[in-house]
Amino acid sequence: MTKKVYIETLGCQMNKSDSEKILGILETQGYKETTEREEADLLVMNTCSIRAASENKAFSHLGIWKKLKKTNPDIKICVCGCIAQQTKEKIFKRAPQVDLIFGTHNIEELPELIKQLEGEADCEQRLQDGGGEPSTGTPFKASNQVKVCSIRQTPYQTEETFYSRRQEGLSAWLPIIEGCDYFCTYCVVPYTRGRQRSRLPVDIIREAKEIISQGYKEITLLGQTVDSYGKDFGKPEITLSSLLRELNGLDGLMRIRFVTSHPADITDELIKTVAELDKVCEYFHLPMQSGSTEVLAKMKRPYTREEYLTLVNKIKKEIPDVAITSDFIAGFPGEKEEQFNETLSIIDEVGFDQCNVAAYSPRKQTPAAVWKDQISYEEKKRRHLVLFEKTKEATVKANEKYVGRVLQVLPDNYKEQSDEIILTGRTRNNKLTHFKGSKDLIGRHVDVEITEASIWCLKGRIKL
Ligand code: SAM
Ligand code: SF4
Repeated sequence: MTKKVYIETLGCQMNKSDSEKILGILETQGYKETTEREEADLLVMNTCSIRAASENKAFSHLGIWKKLKKTNPDIKICVCGCIAQQTKEKIFKRAPQVDLIFGTHNIEELPELIKQLEGEADCEQRLQDGGGEPSTGTPFKASNQVKVCSIRQTPYQTEETFYSRRQEGLSAWLPIIEGCDYFCTYCVVPYTRGRQRSRLPVDIIREAKEIISQGYKEITLLGQTVDSYGKDFGKPEITLSSLLRELNGLDGLMRIRFVTSHPADITDELIKTVAELDKVCEYFHLPMQSGSTEVLAKMKRPYTREEYLTLVNKIKKEIPDVAITSDFIAGFPGEKEEQFNETLSIIDEVGFDQCNVAAYSPRKQTPAAVWKDQISYEEKKRRHLVLFEKTKEATVKANEKYVGRVLQVLPDNYKEQSDEIILTGRTRNNKLTHFKGSKDLIGRHVDVEITEASIWCLKGRIKL
């Protein structure tokens, strides 16, 4: 009988992509995805630990799931992702209802872990084996509940190729690089995701062909620092640019994007490649984090305010209509009012298309978490709000400049409104756009004349 799995994914696109892989693996174990958690046999929480708020969200969901398990004790609860990788003890302590925990380095081990959870594999045996590789977790029995836990410090080695159960639509994510080597002083990623590991071009191209054969039209290459791709191979000819050139040649693919870029890894060659290749979209997500050179140095970001500005100006000069989005942190330890004001002023100076802003959240294992010069909660909240308002203004301004222009949109969805079909898609530079049309335009490039702009989206009509 088919079993049902409900998955909740918190955090970044990398986690969403991991969830697709988890669903693909679970499908091979007889599970089918459900969007109704009440009818699930297995509940999976793919967690994020980038900020305290994301962690709290995970535990609040687990609280709700505990009630479901009370009504139906046969339901199994699984926690994976970044919190699992960092702290299994906290999970078993705060959420004893959890049956299975696995980390970010061993998703591929899932078939074996599921068998243990379902009592088909010998837990005692595995306890002695230790999994054959550094593992901080082992399966064990607590009361009459079988609990399974496997967290590895290094990636699980497997010859097998797992397929992902991708979300429906025209766009697919394709991870090309895992982990991060930068160790910014506020960030937990290198501890939860490990050091930088690029996938081989041959594996990426094979997966891209598979994605295209499934009917997807757009691929977004993923990595915490996607533009660092290939640096760990020590072969200067393998770069994000060389990969983009190969992907651009694949038949059937209409658009290629890549996120997230680190400002220090954007090369002239990459800018030239984006400008030249017809399928590569004019869009960079380029987190700056702070507008102050002093704060950037404390964050261990290897660029100054001026260098970031020079880079952005170069990108804008070489790539017409490029959209640049960013991330900023408000209230980093020791951030002075003048330094915060430098962040506000850089938003105007660059004219970002959109920015994600967050109040600094101290994270376990990171250097900045134990510094003495922490900013008070109230002040971080205030700066966060001021910054948020500032970035909203910038987005409206950036969107308004397209009113009266014709942009190419790839519609991927529609809704019926009165007697009309309203199509929704994205421009090449990633702006959500709505326009009247017919369903048969889905999956085709359409020239749209922009008539309205707001903070959320553009509206327009088909250019005849
Ligand atoms: N690799 C990207 C880069 O180079 O900036 C960022 C990836 S990180 C998963 C996403 C965003 O989370 C960061 O850009 C940063 O703004 C935010 N972030 C990370 N750690 C944070 C912390 N401790 N407090 C608040 N925001 C944080
Ligand atoms: Fe985190 Fe910095 Fe790596 Fe981005 S570059 S993932 S912010 S450590």
